[in-house]
Amino acid sequence: MKVSPWEVEGLVDYNRLIKDFGIQKFDKIPEELKKNKFFRRHIIFGHRDYDKILEAMRLKKDWAVMSGFMPSGSPHFGHKMTMEEIIWHQNAGGQTFVCIADIEAYAVRGLSFSKTKRIGLEYIKSLIALGLKDDAYIYYQSACEDVKNLAIKLSCEVNWSELKSIYGFNPETTLAKMFVSVIQAADILQPQLKKFGGPKPTVIPVGADQDPHIRLTRDIAARSSIFSFEKIENGVRVRSRKGKHYLDYLESKLEFDFRRYEEHIDIFGSQDEIEKTVRNIEIEVGGPAFILPSATYHRFIIGLTGGKMSSSKPETVISLLDDPTDAEKKVMKAITGGRGSAEEQRKLGGIPDKCSIFELYKIHLLDDDHALKEIEQDCRQGKLLCGYCKKMASELVKDFLKEHQAKISDAERMLKDYTIVMNTI
Ligand code: SF4
Repeated sequence: MKVSPWEVEGLVDYNRLIKDFGIQKFDKIPEELKKNKFFRRHIIFGHRDYDKILEAMRLKKDWAVMSGFMPSGSPHFGHKMTMEEIIWHQNAGGQTFVCIADIEAYAVRGLSFSKTKRIGLEYIKSLIALGLKDDAYIYYQSACEDVKNLAIKLSCEVNWSELKSIYGFNPETTLAKMFVSVIQAADILQPQLKKFGGPKPTVIPVGADQDPHIRLTRDIAARSSIFSFEKIENGVRVRSRKGKHYLDYLESKLEFDFRRYEEHIDIFGSQDEIEKTVRNIEIEVGGPAFILPSATYHRFIIGLTGGKMSSSKPETVISLLDDPTDAEKKVMKAITGGRGSAEEQRKLGGIPDKCSIFELYKIHLLDDDHALKEIEQDCRQGKLLCGYCKKMASELVKDFLKEHQAKISDAERMLKDYTIVMNTI
């Protein structure tokens, strides 16, 4: 198994990802998340620090959602899942950021900025067609001075050994690819800049392959912030990563009960209030006071030919821009979990867990859990045969694409209502 932001090979073992990289499982889905089929159906299989987001949602505090798309090919059903996750979080109250990762496409895929500008717009229009509201902040990396400036600062916190161990970079890896890793960290931390209201919990909905970016960013966020926090009985222990003089300054500003030690200060009171106050003091002295970003991880969709959906292999994906009739044909040719013959299938039943068509129903085509359950049961019991099942799915795909593409035309007219920081190269 190889899982990196630029390459996924072999059968992905999600339990191993959870174990090896410390991704947390959603063992019990909180009630408010069950409204979202991705959580409810465990398509989002894990998270980091999502509790912070839930708490902010429940207490109506500030929080943000950000994710991005590398404009290297047409948006497809795999991207649709991330788009819907962003929109769901926007509707749940998150300040919303969408990145078009054109620097990444330039550095990693060698695409020109004029090409990525055009492809990026296709992603933006699809997001709008799917329901992204106009208070989202949409930007191209190459046009976003805040991201580029932040990346320069963050790059001081990263060295070669760390990049090698997280991404498996080798002596042939270009400097551009390394720098893109820091650009992505800046994308993730941008919502916490003063300009956007300062530090806040931020969730990044991504596929499991993007976890290296999340791990790196969390490390950088911790290292670049001045103060660190540790929960103690009745309060919080605060240390300074950047020298004792910051503890002296903090001590002079505190209005809580506290006890000063050589290397830390124990502050007593509400954890929330203490952290908020200390973060404000850090910002006063020029620190970023980042809150470690959270993430949700969705699993990969089985592509129409059996492997992972990939823009570079059009036969594996349904593009959101595909002609509906062509998409219908792709669905009819897709790999299923069916048996060698109708007779065998009636006798043994199909295997929906290995079926790209069932995957389409589960992730995209059916919101109704009962209807999905019925297909699953009928498939397993051999009551449903693949030809008919594919025909039903292909009709749904065709209808969705017709409607979506009509909405894309409307989105084109709505672009002017959105903040889009777009490259001019
Ligand atoms: Fe897949 Fe449907 Fe065939 Fe079952 S009957 S294996 S769900 S295509």
